[in-house]
Order: sequence, then C-alpha cells, then structure tokens
Amino acid sequence: MQFTTDFTQGFPGSIYYDHQIMDRRDIMKRFKRMAALLMAVSVVLSGCAGLEIPEEAAETEAVELPPARAQDDFFRYINEEALANAEFEYGAMAAGGSFDSKLVENEVKDIIREIAAGSGYEPGTEEYVIKKAYDLYSSYDFENSEVPKELDDLFREIDSISSMEEFFEMDARLQRDYGVGNILHLTVDTDYFSSGDKILVFGQYSAVFDADFETLDETYGPLNSLKETGSLILQQMGHDEKEADEIGTKVGYIAMDIYNATDMDQIGVAMPMEFFRQMTPADIKAILTNVDLDDYVKALGVNTAKVDRYGIYDPGQLEAVNAILTDENLDALKCWQMMSLAQKYRRFIAYGYEKLENYRNIDYKSDEELVLDEIYNTYYGLTDPIYVEKYYSEEMDEALITMCDDIREGYRDLIGSASWLSDATRKGLLEKLDNIVYVTGADLERNDPEDLKVLKGNDYFEFYLSVTRHDMADLMDDIGKPGDRKAVGMPMQMLNACYDPSLNNITITVAIMIDPFFSMDNDYYTNLGGLGAVIAHEMGHAFDSDCIVFNEKGVYDPSWIASSDMDALVARNETAKAYFENNFTVFGVYHVDGDQTLGENYADLGGMECVTSLAHTQADREKVFTSYARIWSEKRADSALMDQLEYDVHSPSIIRVNAILSSLDVFYETYDVKEGDGMYLAPEDRISRWH
Ligand SMILES: [Zn+2]
Repeated sequence: MQFTTDFTQGFPGSIYYDHQIMDRRDIMKRFKRMAALLMAVSVVLSGCAGLEIPEEAAETEAVELPPARAQDDFFRYINEEALANAEFEYGAMAAGGSFDSKLVENEVKDIIREIAAGSGYEPGTEEYVIKKAYDLYSSYDFENSEVPKELDDLFREIDSISSMEEFFEMDARLQRDYGVGNILHLTVDTDYFSSGDKILVFGQYSAVFDADFETLDETYGPLNSLKETGSLILQQMGHDEKEADEIGTKVGYIAMDIYNATDMDQIGVAMPMEFFRQMTPADIKAILTNVDLDDYVKALGVNTAKVDRYGIYDPGQLEAVNAILTDENLDALKCWQMMSLAQKYRRFIAYGYEKLENYRNIDYKSDEELVLDEIYNTYYGLTDPIYVEKYYSEEMDEALITMCDDIREGYRDLIGSASWLSDATRKGLLEKLDNIVYVTGADLERNDPEDLKVLKGNDYFEFYLSVTRHDMADLMDDIGKPGDRKAVGMPMQMLNACYDPSLNNITITVAIMIDPFFSMDNDYYTNLGGLGAVIAHEMGHAFDSDCIVFNEKGVYDPSWIASSDMDALVARNETAKAYFENNFTVFGVYHVDGDQTLGENYADLGGMECVTSLAHTQADREKVFTSYARIWSEKRADSALMDQLEYDVHSPSIIRVNAILSSLDVFYETYDVKEGDGMYLAPEDRISRWH
C-alpha cells in the first residue's frame, strides 16, 4: 500500500501490507474501544478559544449550554441541534458525524445482496465472481470442517524442513502461493525517489506477530504470548510440550534480536519516506550474507531482470534479520513460518486444530452478516466499479472537475501572491500545482474479464486461495512499472479523499459526493464549502510541511526548495504549531500536538483560505462557512477523543472548524466577530498559510 494523506480521522496508509505486522495504533484503538465501552460517554462540544467547559462537565451525559452564537463557537452554532439528537449506537465511539461510513457500507452491502439473489451472470464479470464468493462462503462450514488437506499438508511440510535452503524455498512459496508475509519483510512499494515507480522494498518490522516493539518492556509480556502461540502450533504438529516450549521461547529470542537492532525513531511516524533510501542489489547482498537473494526473489515470482535497485528503511534491522537466518535457528524459523501461516488462515484451522481454539470466531453475528462482511472487506475491487455505476454520473463528474479547476485557480492566486517566497520557489510551486492530477469515479474501470476468470474453487478455501494467488501475482507484476498517475488512490466506496505526494494526484471518491459534502441539487457555494473544502484540503497537502519536499514531478527531494525559502517555511511551521497548541484545547486542558497535526492543520488552513477566496458575496460566504462546519459535525466519546489527540495526525473536529476560522479575516467580516467574542483572536495572533 502506498503512502497517501487522507482527509478524515485515520492514519496514513501503513507501508506494510503484511498482516502479521500489526500497527501499534491499531492495537491501541482496539484496546481503547473495549475500555471505552465501560466509560461514560460525553458530548464533546467545547474546546474552542474563549469557551471552556469545566472538566467535570465532560463527565456528564450531555453538556447543557445556552445556544451558541456564530461569533463565539461556530462549530456548535452550526452543529449543536443535529448533535443534540445524535445517539451513540452500541459500541460506537462517535455519533452524528458527516463521515458516515456505515451508510456507504450499507449501500455496498445492498449491492452484494442483490447480486447474491440474482443468477445467470457471465463468467469473468464482477457479478459472477461476487455471487460465486458469496455462495461458497455461505456454504462453507467453518466450525465443522476439517483443516483443508492442502493447508494441513503445508504445515507438515514446514515441520519436516531440514535445511536453510528448504526454509528459504518455503518462505518464498508461502508468500507467492499463500499470501503469507516473508521473513525478509520484502514487499512491493513506492520508490519515493522516482515519481512512484514500484520496486521491491525491505520494510521495517515494528512488531513480530503481536509483540509490538513500542510496548516491549523489561517484563517482555508480549514475547510470552508469542512463545505460547508457537508452542501450541508445534504441539498440534505432534511435538511434545517441553520441546515445543523451548522452540517457542527461541522465537521470542529471535524477535528480541530484531527488536534490539530496530531504529525506533521510524516507528509510527507520519512520513516514513524520511527514512526511505535506495540500495543497489550489490549493497543489499553485502547485508544479506546468509541468503541467496537472486534465487529468493525469483522464487517470489519476480522477474529479476526488472530489479535494478531496492528500497530499504532500516538497514541495521535487516542485518539483524540476516544474523538469525542460520542453521542453529532453523527450528525456531520453521515455527515462525507456521505461525505466519496459522495467522493468515486462522479461520480455516481454528476448529480443526484443537490446540488453536483461541483462533475461533467470537463474533456473534448472523450467517448473513458474516458473509456480507467478508465480501465487503475482501472484494471491494469487485464491488467498487458496480458502486460507481450505480452512484456516479457524467454530470457529477463534470461538476466535480469544474470545482477542482476553480480551486486550482484559487491556489494559483494565493501562491502567486505569496511575496515571502522567492521567485524561483513560487514558480516551482505553481508548476507543481499545475501538475496535480484529479482521479475520480470516471477513472475506475471494470476489471479485465480474462483476469477474473482465473478465480475459481470448489469450496471457499480453494476460492480464497485463488484470489490470494492472483493478488500476489499482480503485486509482483507491478515491479518495474512506472507510477500510474491516474491510479485510484482509495476505493471509490470509501467516504474520504486523498493526496498522493509521489504521484501528485488527488483521489476524490464517489462515496464522498453526498450531502452535506455535495449534491447536484445544492447551490455551488454550498458544495464549495463541503466537498470543495475537502478538495482544497487535499490540494493543500501538496504544499504542506510533509509533502512540500516532493518536487513538481513527485520525486522526494528536500533540496528542490531553496534553503532560504525552506527557512521561511520552517519559521512559519513553528508559528503554526504554537498557534494550534496554545490557543485551542479539548476539555479545557488537553492540547493538540502541534507537530503531529501540522500537515493536516496546514491543509485545512490553506484549503479554507482558498475556497473562501472564491466566494465574494456575504450570502455565498455564509454558505461556504456553514457547509464547512457541517461536514465536521460529530461528537466523540472522551476516550476516542483522547486517542485522537495522542495518535491521529488530524485535529479534533471542533478545532478543525473553530481554530481554522478564527484565523480567517473573511470570517470576521462575514459574521462581524469582535474583540471579546469566543472566536476572536487579535489580528497579530492569527496565522495564514499563504499571506
Ligand atoms: Zn489531510
């Protein structure tokens, strides 16, 4: 998965596609989601400058406040009525949000249901494959089926491996044929030094299975669970408990060796490409002395003739990985492979292998819910074009492109008049602006029927395997391909938008083209404050503190901006960080992390400077501001909000509205904001992205 900067709460795409490498933030989110169910839920309506709710009020069910004035708390002024009626669904951490992904999910599931109920589809069509997957999944009895023979044989084959040579062969085969992440953490990813070419990249381990490197401490608790899982699998294969425990413990030691060599500064950063570098095959071979790299890469299904360079994040860690790849660790390495395989295919083995009962499904969902979840989550590449056909039109695309072009013009004026930039840098930024490509629903085509015809199977295991093999072959086939600037950056059925710095393109999904973001029935300025603000936000990412180091061609090159301009940018960054950290709090005490949120805050600020510059009358400006506040309508559980402050690169909704608008002079004019009002900041305390 490539790095993108997306619009809503959530995290930039992990650089890993490997399921076994868990992102700490995912674990924390899951944990906190559970913890939060036990906690009181409160309405988060405050946090803006000048209006602070006493802390104890945050503990109550709902905060009673007099109606807000636009001049004091614009977020609440626009959203309080809707939020007063918004109710938290059981287990939900947020309510009343405009980013209602459940809505889209239900639309997609309706499509799936309809297809499943139909018949007579042409082989090679998305509908044919969806129905096939639906039927096979529905008829697969996970709880009473034995472990599929192919899978059982594979476990036993791993168990019987007797040399490192066989181990490497198996390791590559597990990835190629079964989609299991390889031990070298070698994957296909973006070359940030070449406008998005796809190359082989050695990713960095930030965890080994559930043993997350950021939480490992002197008790090494996570390593114990790792040892237990390894031991149970070996016992299932017939090893006695003592031997299985010893080997499981060795897996823990291997994990420790990798952990000890890890560059911890890289873990959890928003901009992993800061650490990205290229290496020649010869350089990599000098590190990987225990592996025949060419053979290994060939076994992954890669045409080695296309491999003239590798990407790498953490060479020190790769050295440590190389050091463990020896005969004396062979038993532990085999155990590691079995653990990887077990994790990927847990649902197919959880009932047949009695030792692995902790892999069993504990969701109490109906059979229909389970199959819909499976198709929705695993086959979005198939439902996506159907979703576009149903919910997108040429008229919508025309309106969208017009709005994108208007916003680009707005930026051209803003950047063109940024007198604090040198002429050369201003010219470069304008060139980068001109090069931005829009990707919309119109760019998504149906899949190649010949491609879909290879997906087959007599039961769901076989079918799932054919899908996995097909995806892996596709992935490896990408190597050496130049970045596709019209490539869709995220599913069209995802309510979001994103900017990809290495492709310098913006993806605007079909799902986000709904009220309150966009409607063909809306006035232009109402759409401009909604979807327009989203587009302007994404376009603003091209120039934010993180992405500005990509040049006008999308190549990562911090030196393309003159150093004097870089100094000016850094000075402005510091001012912006202080602005968000010092002026705005949540619950009256908690500040956003100015550093962590800078890129997103800048995108918001620049975006609103841009779209408001396109509205010239009082009425049009009011429409823009109203829509902007409305798209951020949301209330969040306290714990989710705290989570966001700690881990999210996006500021809480209320700050995205009030902090941004408090810096826009045009907001003061539109609503006659005066000293003493909650939204008021002295002119010298306001910040600007471009002025
Ligand atoms: Zn963003």
